[in-house]
Amino acid sequence: MTARILVVDDVETNVRLLEAKLTLEYYDVLSCNDGASALTIAARERPDIILLDVMMPGMDGFETCRRLKADPVTRHIPVVLVTALDGRDDKIRGLDAGADDFVTKPIDDLLLFARVRSLVRLKAVMDELRDREESGRRMGVDADGAGRLRGSGGRVLIVDDNESQANRIADQLATDHRPVIEADPDKALVAAQGLIDLIIVNVSSSGFDGLRLVAQIRSKEGSRRAPILAVVDPADRPRLVKALELGANDILTKPVDPEELAARGRTQIRRKRYTDFLRQRLDYSLEMAVTDSLTGLHNRRYMAGQLQTMVNRTGQGGDPVAVLVIDIDHFKAVNDGFGHDAGDEVLREFAVRLATNVRAIDLPCRHGGEEFVVVMPGTGLEDAVMIADRIRRDVATTPFRILDGDEHLTITVSIGVAATLGADDSPDALIKRADEGVYEAKARGRNKVIARAA
Ligand code: GH3
Ligand code: MG
Ligand code: MG
Repeated sequence: MTARILVVDDVETNVRLLEAKLTLEYYDVLSCNDGASALTIAARERPDIILLDVMMPGMDGFETCRRLKADPVTRHIPVVLVTALDGRDDKIRGLDAGADDFVTKPIDDLLLFARVRSLVRLKAVMDELRDREESGRRMGVDADGAGRLRGSGGRVLIVDDNESQANRIADQLATDHRPVIEADPDKALVAAQGLIDLIIVNVSSSGFDGLRLVAQIRSKEGSRRAPILAVVDPADRPRLVKALELGANDILTKPVDPEELAARGRTQIRRKRYTDFLRQRLDYSLEMAVTDSLTGLHNRRYMAGQLQTMVNRTGQGGDPVAVLVIDIDHFKAVNDGFGHDAGDEVLREFAVRLATNVRAIDLPCRHGGEEFVVVMPGTGLEDAVMIADRIRRDVATTPFRILDGDEHLTITVSIGVAATLGADDSPDALIKRADEGVYEAKARGRNKVIARAA
């Protein structure tokens, strides 16, 4: 995933150096030498990430960061502060100013790229969320998403057999999150399958193979998407590289710095929550694409696809397929007499009766309005007529309770039945014959089942 990065540093050689490193990694680099220009360029160019030097004459990195985060146009762009190696106070001030992450000078390329990758991913999902919220608002949908998607209150699993280090990390996280410690990697892998927002693994542990655990977490379905922070000895380069290769999202170097822990934990947890949220919405919209929202039955589009598949199978020598087309009689009178909401209640109740009167393999659908279709695989005309008549009787004999039981309405339906006639029958022809059955049932006085054999 490539990205545009704005590098801000008053020392030109620092800018050049970073520019060269990032360009080699195929990032698109913009640069400037002071805070004021950074604000202008950020607002105009909307980079994906800003690498911001803390020590600059005039407007320093903190003030620049604060202003970037105060402007709605640039607020969502992740800011990485470039601080001095021992800049503990810098980090605290940086977090206060709204910084998203830190890198320390001299810059470690590998760690820098890990950080940039993490933040680019976070920004990508946040951008998507913002897009959806905008289009959601345009469509009149109430999108309350962002408010709930905090980077705090996360369930964090710490896997470390170094007790004092694990306790220190847990204590530092406990102000914002809910950490639990697990020293046994097998138990940790089980725990990771649960509702976990972040996993911190000591991959330099002496008692177990942390790298192996990272790989296992990544390969298991229940934990595949959990973000992982690997705690590693900075001198152990091969291990650090391997952890990233195996799928750790970011690195915490020992000794773990509390501010870095806070910033990186928050970044990973937010990204996890945003992606979960987007995935849920996607599941929901996929479901909406095949389901009728009033009745919960399948919709016309889904039914059409299924019917086509079944009719094709019949054409290739498979079992016959039958369809029922069901239309509620004088439904307009329900709306006119009791209101549209009462009409909706009748439709919902009818859907329940329909679904309970057909077999599990049958497909009851709302075709539109007060018209329903049931697709019945492996069913001939005679059986279909029997099932149709059972539905007709159930509807006609038990009145529909509406308006909280204040009204009992007798409802009837007209049903047309058709079954596949031969190898070259089509879904459209099948539905058309059943429709003709409905028409005839209406003409003959309603509350009837009429089969069309040809
Ligand atoms: P017939 O016996 O000839 O089928 O008469 P009918 O009144 O059932 O048929 P018509 O097609 O004249 O009217 C159907 C009515 O169904 C008109 C429409 O407003 C209403 N309708 C369609 N969809 C919905 C819905 O989702 N909710 C409600 N409450 N009414 C609906
Ligand atoms: Mg009708
Ligand atoms: Mg109608």
